[in-house]
Amino acid sequence: MVTPKGETQAATQEQQAGNGARVLEIPHVLTVKELGELMGVSPVEVIKELMKNGVMASINQSIDFDTAAIVATDMGFEAVEAKPQGEAAAVAEVAHELEAPLRVVIEEDDPSKLVSRPPVVTIMGHVDHGKTSLLDAIRKTNVTAQEAGGITQHIGAYQAETHGHHVTFLDTPGHEAFTAMRARGAQVTDIVVLVVAADDGVMPQTKEAIDHVRAAGVPLVVAINKIDLPQANPDRVKQELSEAGVIIEEWGGDTPCVQVSAKTGQGLDDLLETILVVAEVQELKANPERTAIGTVVEAELSSTRGPLATVLVQTGTLRAGDAVVVGETYGRIKAMINERGQRVREAAPSSPVEILGLQVPPAAGDRLAVVKDEKTAREIVTQHIREREALALRERGGLTLETLFGEISAGKVKELNVILKADVQGSVEAVRQAIERLGTNEVKARVIHAQTGTVTESDVMLAVASRGVIIGFNARVEPGAKRLAEQERVDIRLYNIIYQLTEDIEKALRGMLAPVYKEVVTAHAEVRQVFKVGRRGQIAGCYVRDGSVTRTDSARLLRDGQIAGEGKIDSLRRFQEDVREVQTGYECGIKIEGVEEFQEGDVLEFFRMEQA
Ligand code: GDP
Repeated sequence: MVTPKGETQAATQEQQAGNGARVLEIPHVLTVKELGELMGVSPVEVIKELMKNGVMASINQSIDFDTAAIVATDMGFEAVEAKPQGEAAAVAEVAHELEAPLRVVIEEDDPSKLVSRPPVVTIMGHVDHGKTSLLDAIRKTNVTAQEAGGITQHIGAYQAETHGHHVTFLDTPGHEAFTAMRARGAQVTDIVVLVVAADDGVMPQTKEAIDHVRAAGVPLVVAINKIDLPQANPDRVKQELSEAGVIIEEWGGDTPCVQVSAKTGQGLDDLLETILVVAEVQELKANPERTAIGTVVEAELSSTRGPLATVLVQTGTLRAGDAVVVGETYGRIKAMINERGQRVREAAPSSPVEILGLQVPPAAGDRLAVVKDEKTAREIVTQHIREREALALRERGGLTLETLFGEISAGKVKELNVILKADVQGSVEAVRQAIERLGTNEVKARVIHAQTGTVTESDVMLAVASRGVIIGFNARVEPGAKRLAEQERVDIRLYNIIYQLTEDIEKALRGMLAPVYKEVVTAHAEVRQVFKVGRRGQIAGCYVRDGSVTRTDSARLLRDGQIAGEGKIDSLRRFQEDVREVQTGYECGIKIEGVEEFQEGDVLEFFRMEQA
């Protein structure tokens, strides 16, 4: 353990804790350098301590309180989180609102200020079943577009009106957008309309949409479309829906179902009314008097107008001139435009508006919040980016079978959500049943989506959105899905023997699954010269014979074919410069933890442990 130095400098922040350790107040996020200053030690000491805990950080890197606390404790302090004060407190509060689920934000509102707001609807269904046609048909008949010569324009969402009530439709049909938003922590949809073509019935994407909507817990309205076609067979559709687990009201279930034709307009009023009834049950409310919070549904960079974002206002009223934070960008709203291409000065809850004036285009799913002024907005964004970097450093990822039990024990997870892909329908059913029998009374595995076919990007997004794992049985993974899974840290497990699959899940649920690591040899180098450093320890001047040496690898010293030492790389240098990597054919200086003596002619074998 390193003893803290430079007491005088840090003394102002410290008190003596009961156990003799000195109390250190650490902010929510700070840089490595700032932590060093607080403790009165050099940042290098902090970096070393972080490395011992498996965190590679540079001097200006942001780390969060949890990470900083580990270092501080190791260095003999008792860490407590400092409460932000003054302006910093206001910044922290808005930053918190940006992160908090919207439901929490609305519940904190004064109930007497809450008023009903229009429902926000997403249309889903199989390709060619008429999602786009339905959105267009509703827009044409229920958006008073032509008034004032307005041309309807696509801004990602629009509001329809029926009998004096409004319904907001998101204009990006399909479950990909829905699940992608949810994976980013944004849920804007109150109701999903599931379109099923009367002549085609329940198809793979219909089932997929049902599973995605269920995982999100959003109510469903079924629209049986193309009812005008002579070959339309709504009864067959209802039958197939019940086989997929959606029981319509007419059959004793709780899902409303209407028959429509996007072509003739038949049933559209009925559909809108049904949506309003479902909305009424949900008691959707917002407080129009508070500062606005919204979510980005679409964004782009226009060559003539700069960054544009369509925002769905969720609570509060958004006004032209407001200073806003949107995800990791900010700005002052120069203009707001509605779906009719008209400039508006205000946007009430559940209305979509395109906003101009941001620094850069945000991403779909980003949260918008109104703040005091642009300066505050900039501070919040800076803070937000620092926090994200600090979190990324800790590599918090998706749920994996290895980390599952830890989360179960911590009470964070009660169920293992499984997305199952298999080669044929017979194995889908067999594997699903086998999985759902697993677990204990406290924790169970639940298959939230099961289908034949390859593992797709959509499966990965569903896994992110519902913190689940993907199990493939005799299934392949699409290259795009593999990349996305790596990026989002989604666990994809492939099996071709059913008992191995069930055994792994069972062990994971019971906390008995040890991660499997295998050694990967990354490079070999020859020791050509030996340098002394300090009283003890040597640096090996090496020539990399094959592969490439990475700073984070470990090395094994081979002398006359025998292993003569092993340890992590302590330093890797080229011409006195610390480097991250050295390729084949180059020379470098290497120091290895625990290896104090090298000889010319030694061979270093570099390796790292990777999860199998
Ligand atoms: P999406 O892929 O689900 O967005 O489907 P589209 O809206 O693009 O519709 C697919 C095809 O079905 C198009 O050729 C539409 O003209 C047609 N279509 C959509 N709705 C209806 C309908 O109610 N009746 C008939 N007869 N055709 C429809």
